[in-house]
Amino acid sequence: MTVVTAPSGTRANARPFLYGDEITAIARALESGQYGHGAETEAFERELAAYLGTPDVVAVATGTAALHLALLAAGVGPGDEVVVPSLTFCASVQAIVASGARPKFVDVDSATLCTTADHIRAALTPATRAVMPVHYGGRAVDLSNLREHLAAQDIAIVEDAAHAFGSFTGSRRVGATGDMTCFSFDAIKALTCGDGGAVIPRSPSEASALRRARALGITSSRNERGHSLSYTVDGVGFRYHLSTLNAAIGRTQLARFPEMEERRRTLWCAYAAALKELEEVTLVDLDVVNTVPFNCTILVPAPLRGEVHTRLRAAEVAVGVHYPLNHRQPAFIRWASPLPHSESLWQQILNLPFHPDMTEDDVHTVTAALKRALHLAGGRFPATTTVRDPERDRQSSATEASL
Ligand SMILES: *Cc1c(COP(=O)(O)O)cnc(C)c1O
Repeated sequence: MTVVTAPSGTRANARPFLYGDEITAIARALESGQYGHGAETEAFERELAAYLGTPDVVAVATGTAALHLALLAAGVGPGDEVVVPSLTFCASVQAIVASGARPKFVDVDSATLCTTADHIRAALTPATRAVMPVHYGGRAVDLSNLREHLAAQDIAIVEDAAHAFGSFTGSRRVGATGDMTCFSFDAIKALTCGDGGAVIPRSPSEASALRRARALGITSSRNERGHSLSYTVDGVGFRYHLSTLNAAIGRTQLARFPEMEERRRTLWCAYAAALKELEEVTLVDLDVVNTVPFNCTILVPAPLRGEVHTRLRAAEVAVGVHYPLNHRQPAFIRWASPLPHSESLWQQILNLPFHPDMTEDDVHTVTAALKRALHLAGGRFPATTTVRDPERDRQSSATEASL
């Protein structure tokens, strides 16, 4: 069986990486005749736990579902506040809103694009019930200095580790620090199930609550239900299970994950080396020794960023901007507060194409195109002067006025 490999490595900002065995795994799952939650899902959970070094793992349908269920399991609900960076995928915030709570947006560190213990501490209020650090780029946010303080106030740490599968916090994998951790296995994540996610529970009782909630609140397993006349629905539930088809893909990917760690580190280091000669841009460091890199993010001086983006896109170099700030989104703007670093970073962020089958040649194609784009953009807008864009000024003052 052949696996289709996509064309040029620079034309996608991110894309799934297949090892080739996934098709056999899906065929096996299809033939089993059991497509919902099943033996494949449970085997995937055990294998994830062994890899991460955690007592248990609860597999779910998506990373967003993982965040939603984790917040509910932490007792988060209406009237509560959950601290979250604005610079994250909107899924983090939607999960908070789905739980009935409201987001309390925090700023991030300009060097890492991650929020810090200090930002989080300053954002705590009597309404805070959980904090949601986001491991941007795969870099773990270390909250060990804050853990006791949060525990004393019964505030849960729910990590959005969608980018950070395989990364380390100190000597332990992200997920094995004792907090509730949520992973995503969607198409572009380092480990893909097609779609999938997982929650690392803090205790056996939390694990059972999560398992019940992912299965519509039904307390008995499918096997037990087969033998009895009835079943019990005990509490809120969703259809958030991970299907055996998706789990089969994930098991194949997990078995080969050491290769992925290596490929992503090598690719990020190739970028780091190639970008050294471009003085105009700053590579966002992600502590590559401890991190399985999810992306390669650079900061381009704000007056040039838009044009550099347009020129690279025109040259079929698929750059992106991750992420539009959530506190500026119509859905969340009512919870906005001033976030100076995030605002300024968002004008500079550029995510370079980053996926594991990119070659060193692709990296050079990207950096050469970037150099050209910077040169052409800089010719018109010298990087040392601030260029005023009347349209943008008008828009941003309008947004500010509405804050
Ligand atoms: C991918 C992602 C999610 C959501 O995961 P899905 O599996 O796509 O639902 C949440 N947060 C971040 C930061 C992500 O990148």
